[in-house]
Amino acid sequence: MAHILLAEDDEAVRSFVKRALELDGHTVTAQEDGAAASETLARENGRFDLILSDIKMPIMDGIAFALIAARDFPQVPILLMTGFADQRERANGLDALIHDVVTKPFSLAEIRRAVHDALNGILREEPTVLRRYA
Ligand SMILES: [Mg+2]
Repeated sequence: MAHILLAEDDEAVRSFVKRALELDGHTVTAQEDGAAASETLARENGRFDLILSDIKMPIMDGIAFALIAARDFPQVPILLMTGFADQRERANGLDALIHDVVTKPFSLAEIRRAVHDALNGILREEPTVLRRYA
């Protein structure tokens, strides 16, 4: 089972995702913004199997956090999540650094599947967001 670093500023989403992933036996360390998550990542010297981060967060957003994480710990896969099409576009330049972007709102099954795929290095044919906004 995996150790996952979760960054999400919305308390309801954060606890929902944490519980969803714990159902699969994963250990989840949750933080409320990119800055706190970045500190945790550094303190643990990158010892996570996956970073799961919201994009739109105060203090440090998910894009800035992903850039730092990919620079310092490139071995840790990154999965982003957002409910905003414009935020998804901001992640386009990060295609080489991130695994995928999960579109909110997602079901319990969808986030568990996305994390499972990321942990196993499985990429979808096309990002979820492109199907939904096409
Ligand atoms: Mg947010």
